[in-house]
Amino acid sequence: MDFYILLGVERGATLNDIKRAYKRLARRYHPDINPGDRVAAAQFRRIAEAYETLSDPDRRRRYDVHGPTAAAVDAATFGFEGFDFSVSVEGAAAPTFGDLFADVFQQRATAQRPERGADLHDTVDLSFDEALAGGPRSVTIARQVHCQACRGRGRLAVAETRCAHCQGSGVVKSTRGHMVFSKPCPHCSGRGRLGDAPCPVCGGRQLQMRSDTLVVNVPPGLADGARVRVPAKGHAGPNSAEPGDLYITLRVAPHPVFSREGDDLHMTLPVAVHEAALGARVEVAAPDGPARVRVPPGTQTGQRFRVRGRGVVSARDGRRGDLVVEIRIVLPPVLDERSKELLREFGRINGSDGIRE
Ligand SMILES: [Zn+2]
Ligand SMILES: [Zn+2]
Repeated sequence: MDFYILLGVERGATLNDIKRAYKRLARRYHPDINPGDRVAAAQFRRIAEAYETLSDPDRRRRYDVHGPTAAAVDAATFGFEGFDFSVSVEGAAAPTFGDLFADVFQQRATAQRPERGADLHDTVDLSFDEALAGGPRSVTIARQVHCQACRGRGRLAVAETRCAHCQGSGVVKSTRGHMVFSKPCPHCSGRGRLGDAPCPVCGGRQLQMRSDTLVVNVPPGLADGARVRVPAKGHAGPNSAEPGDLYITLRVAPHPVFSREGDDLHMTLPVAVHEAALGARVEVAAPDGPARVRVPPGTQTGQRFRVRGRGVVSARDGRRGDLVVEIRIVLPPVLDERSKELLREFGRINGSDGIRE
């Protein structure tokens, strides 16, 4: 409902008029005066909301331009039932609702004039190789955008209609005793006709939710949990405020062979007993192609070798990590007599010296 009508004041009412009207109505509808009366409580809440808006010059200006939603205090989120209001409604000099909660309203007023729209967060799943390569990814997000129907104004120009409040006369009459008072209709500011209406698509909120598909360029080499910021693709803000940002958190699937530590890649390399004992050159399939690992003679299980520059290209500074290979000695299946004979001989020559304490 129109705040001016709620308070019974004219559009051009002074701050004093508004305060007076509020106090008069608060005395009638205050919950303390009407204990248990839900209708009165609801009415009081609306009156308090109207008063809070119209008594703040800034908010009043916005209300006059954009309608209730731009300036509204969502009174329902902010319970005042628990407070003692008797002070605020007794005597002309008593503090008003707004005075009592000046600091709270201050905070809310600041919160309602956001610098920009809210940030939006989403996740993207990548395979290990996709994360190493990077590249474009398409993401679908539900974001708040400016209402397309009203271009974010919250109101739409409509064919002029007769103001239903004053039946087009531009004047409203009230009777007090034998007196009849008439004043300009507050609904249409005395024009008798209305030229715009709250936008039916967004209900005057200026914003609407929309599902958007965006192509996000994921830089190569990002690890699990890394975040990509996409500027200005968060929620749109009210009153043409700048939009927030979109943050995409990457969820990178583990790889069956490689694991990542920083920009180094780690893998386990199985080598045969004779390779470990005599030394060997083994080719491994690194993500960027074959890499040669030199296994020196006498290598033991658990020893690690580093292949320089064959890890991940750092997304930070472009430097390459290493490929770290951990050796695991594997006994090949010994099936034929000749191999068994050789192993027996190997045992006779070497015994078990030095391998058990
Ligand atoms: Zn009217
Ligand atoms: Zn709209």
